[in-house]
Amino acid sequence: MRAHWLFGDQLGPAFTAPDDGGPAPEAPLVMIESRSVFRRRRFHRAKAHLILSAMRHRAAELGDRVVYVKADSYREGLDRAVGNRPVTVHHPTSRAAAALVASLGNVTVLPPRGFLVTREVFTAWAASQHAGLRLEQFYRHVRREHDLLMDAGEPAGGRWNLDHDNREPPPREARTLAAPAPYRPREDDIDAEVRHDLDRWERAGDISFVGRDGARLFPADRRQALAALRRFIDHRLAGFGAHEDAMLASDPVMSHSLLSSSLNLGLLDPAECVERAEAAWRAGKAPLNSVEGFVRQIAGWREYVWHLYWHFDEDYRTSNELGHTTPLPSWWTELDADAVTAGCLSTVLRQVRDTGWTHHIPRLMVLGNYALQRGWDPAALTDWFHRSFVDGYDWVMLPNVLGMSQYADGGRMTTKPYTSGGAYIDRMSDLCGSCRYRPDRRVGADACPFTAGYWAFLHRHRHRLAHNARTAGPVGGLDRLTDLQELLLQEHDRGEAAP
Ligand code: FAD
Ligand code: SF4
Repeated sequence: MRAHWLFGDQLGPAFTAPDDGGPAPEAPLVMIESRSVFRRRRFHRAKAHLILSAMRHRAAELGDRVVYVKADSYREGLDRAVGNRPVTVHHPTSRAAAALVASLGNVTVLPPRGFLVTREVFTAWAASQHAGLRLEQFYRHVRREHDLLMDAGEPAGGRWNLDHDNREPPPREARTLAAPAPYRPREDDIDAEVRHDLDRWERAGDISFVGRDGARLFPADRRQALAALRRFIDHRLAGFGAHEDAMLASDPVMSHSLLSSSLNLGLLDPAECVERAEAAWRAGKAPLNSVEGFVRQIAGWREYVWHLYWHFDEDYRTSNELGHTTPLPSWWTELDADAVTAGCLSTVLRQVRDTGWTHHIPRLMVLGNYALQRGWDPAALTDWFHRSFVDGYDWVMLPNVLGMSQYADGGRMTTKPYTSGGAYIDRMSDLCGSCRYRPDRRVGADACPFTAGYWAFLHRHRHRLAHNARTAGPVGGLDRLTDLQELLLQEHDRGEAAP
């Protein structure tokens, strides 16, 4: 019988289920822990730990059914596990892995798992979108096709989009949202063994990591992932919506679900997440704005990003429409939060350094915004995000970082660059209060690097942005700045030093 190969992000039951084109129920399974993956890229220590822990937990669950090979590369591992006998694998999640699998000769690729929408359905939908691809239209299509939050063919509650209700700043004077605590797993012997191995590899000098080691914060097996989902739906979903875009220095998680790493490892299926959220709303346990916001993230954004990764061609990876080439400074790549005095950036970089996670607004409006304003190389930034976040994978990083946050694709993901000055961060967080800079100052010793950076960015790209209906207004504002030359000189002098 043909063996079936499980990649390290194919760890849930959907990847071994025999139904609908999956492997035979008794097919022997193969897992390969490839050391070269860690040698090629300098990952966050917490990410390396989570992936290895999750793979080894899955192997322990599968027992004798799995051959678990620790090898230098996938090619060597597969050779040791099955020689040139035929194997199957569910469609891998990166172009590199898909190319490797195609080159091996003895591997049959089965349909992808872990997403709601098939490639065929997406392709047919995309072909019907003559005005261009937009998330909102795709999301509505998914809601209809999967009968999600629908009542008699109409969106539940009469509106498709409740984003307007979900952009509240943090509650005044609050240091935390006071949401019930999220689920956190307990480490076990497998984690101790992983930690021991990672220490040994680092000591041997051929592999190094960024970020801090610490107790594992994210689920490594199906049982833990289900516990995390249950905790979120029962106790935290109700508060998810209103402050979804807000940031608080002392409350990095707020009401976010922390489910991205479990979904991306395959431990959770998106269908069970959105179905349980909808059931909570129908049972009166969570308001519609929270449930719609959560469903939009998973059935909308996550699906959209996955399909765009395959829909765009390989050249998407090298797109750089704004011509940004500045290398990332070392304080950034080393996650040296202590070198940074700008309150927002230092807080967010510290969260990444200590946990490998921060929620979507710090990713987009602090980290991505800063890099965009400074003209940093978008491919290097994408690689940095990929390595530094516990949930980072090629498919999810390319559209989110290169497209959404850096506008390197010239507008295929978004209609305008996501950038703002300090006023947005001030309105949506408590981060400016203790900062040495002032969000409303653009020149001088206390000029906010985001506010000054915003104007410098608009100035640098004014010809392009003046022709975009959504940015023409702000570009016009440049002419009213009497201190523009002073600002440009100041930002030139700031250069890549930590702000
Ligand atoms: P919640 O806020 O609770 O959202 C629920 C779920 O929705 C998430 O778990 C995730 O699975 C999904 N989701 C929401 N937005 C997106 C999106 N834009 N793309 C894909 N899935 C989405 N998400 C990743 O999973 N991996 C990444 O590497 C990643 N990189 C990002 C980089 C940038 C610059 C930006 C702006 C966003 C990125 N995201 C990424 C999306 C989002 O920030 C994270 O999914 C989210 O912060 C994870 O935390 P959570 O599970 O608490 O999410
Ligand atoms: Fe960030 Fe500027 Fe606010 Fe300081 S003043 S926290 S640099 S936005």
